[in-house]
Amino acid sequence: MVEVVEETTYVRHHKKKIAYILSAMRHFAVELRGSGWQVEYVRLDDPDNSGSFTGEVERALKRFGPTRILVTEASEWRVQGVIRTWTESLDCPVEILEDDRFIATYEEFRSWADGRKQLRMEFFYRDMRRKTGLLMNGDQPEGGKWNFDAENRKPAKADLFIPSPMQVVPDNITQDVLSLVDQQFSDHFGTLKPFWFGVTRASAEDALEHFLKHALASFGDYQDAMLEGESFLYHSLLALHINIGLLDPLDVCRRVEKAYYSGAAPLNAAEGFIRQIIGWREYVRGIYWLKMPDYVDQNFFGNTRQLPDFYWTGNTDMACLRAAVSQTREEAYAHHIQRLMVTGNFALLAGIDPKQVHEWYLSVYADAYEWVELPNTLGMSQFADGGVLASKPYASSGNYIHKMSDHCKLCRYDVKRKTGEGACPFNPLYWDFLHRNRGKLSSNPRMAQMYRTWDRMNEEKQSDYLKSAADILARL
Ligand SMILES: Cc1cc2nc3c(=O)[nH]c(=O)nc-3n(C[C@H](O)[C@H](O)[C@H](O)COP(=O)(O)OP(=O)(O)OC[C@H]3O[C@@H](n4cnc5c(N)ncnc54)[C@H](O)[C@@H]3O)c2cc1C
Ligand code: SF4
Repeated sequence: MVEVVEETTYVRHHKKKIAYILSAMRHFAVELRGSGWQVEYVRLDDPDNSGSFTGEVERALKRFGPTRILVTEASEWRVQGVIRTWTESLDCPVEILEDDRFIATYEEFRSWADGRKQLRMEFFYRDMRRKTGLLMNGDQPEGGKWNFDAENRKPAKADLFIPSPMQVVPDNITQDVLSLVDQQFSDHFGTLKPFWFGVTRASAEDALEHFLKHALASFGDYQDAMLEGESFLYHSLLALHINIGLLDPLDVCRRVEKAYYSGAAPLNAAEGFIRQIIGWREYVRGIYWLKMPDYVDQNFFGNTRQLPDFYWTGNTDMACLRAAVSQTREEAYAHHIQRLMVTGNFALLAGIDPKQVHEWYLSVYADAYEWVELPNTLGMSQFADGGVLASKPYASSGNYIHKMSDHCKLCRYDVKRKTGEGACPFNPLYWDFLHRNRGKLSSNPRMAQMYRTWDRMNEEKQSDYLKSAADILARL
């Protein structure tokens, strides 16, 4: 096992993300040794560490003279490319094993996608329900419907009881890692302490149990809600554990299904949660491997604007963005709607270069790995793939944030004001986005209603919107 600088710095990851991964690795090495394996572990600060996977495999070949190399395929295109070179470059046979932590194989996804005009998640998800049997009665979905999303859009009220996520006190191994990260990555984004993520399989299991007991029942109802000062609401915070391999996604879903059948959670919560994992998670992975390596360069709208500084500092008067960026800096976490409808929506409306947006998301979240982050960012949130993943852009005015959160009450801007000084920036930027990209979007039937609304406005109103948007963009 090797801690290589190439991996800790290919983007400037959040300090908590680096600490989480290194500490989980070190704990895993201890567990393996405890169960009788020999583990050669190279630490980041080992003076002989070459800093790359290839360099470390070459060093290990010299040290141990093995007869073959067995390696599990990488989840990212970049690293898989490195591994593939080994079959040629190393003087030792290399066998690449399948990563069995996913429900759909690449072949399954490819054959599902083959010949389809549109690759919509909903239909892939139904196949995954049939394949796993999760929430199925024979060949029929539990409750008579595949998807209960319509019930999952309640705004949260400030007096709601919201459980805290499970917090783990760092042990000596984690403390060592925290010191290392503090020394070597002090100029990376994010706050390192307090650090409370579980870093072992046992603590990830505890976090799952904690979620099942305290939050799952309301997960569905408040899935899209946002509240000032509440970073987690009823979300699970399990993505970081599942993505690193401390939890098995299918097992997590079976436990959620069991909670539903035992009466501990309603169907809208259990179905909503299971859909995120066997639907969205598997689907974005399928898209990633189907569309890479070109996918990362997609830029459907031709956006070139620089990512504003406040994505790093949180220093903005827009209360919704300030809240999302500040908690991202503190926790290396924001939930889906904050990622999609606040930071993502703003970048989309403002026409930010999608590659910069992608690199931001890849750096700042503890659960971020390119195979899952890139399709979510470039496809779902920025529509930079022109609609491979989403049937229309997730663009909205301030009204959506106002409906789903209490941020607007604390904002310097007025969400009801459409244009001019003090108007919520999302309002003019929304119409400017539609106007600017008319050539690319007006033929999309799901956008037709919005273009009709724009066309019904008189010229003066339209020009007020465009002028306000230009003022905001000039100030970014
Ligand atoms: C712009 C953008 C970037 C994102 N980047 C990442 C990323 O780097 N890594 C990542 O794991 N997820 C990413 N997501 C998806 C989603 O936002 C996170 O999985 C989720 O917020 C993680 O928090 P949680 O564990 O509390 O999730 P919960 O809300 O509790 O959801 C349960 C689980 O479902 C899965 N899930 C939910 N939505 C998605 C999705 N759209 N794609 C894949 N899995 C999903 C996750 O495993 C998650 O743990 C991104 C979404 C957007 C819009
Ligand atoms: S008024 Fe606009 S900028 Fe302010 S919190 Fe509401 S949506 Fe965000």
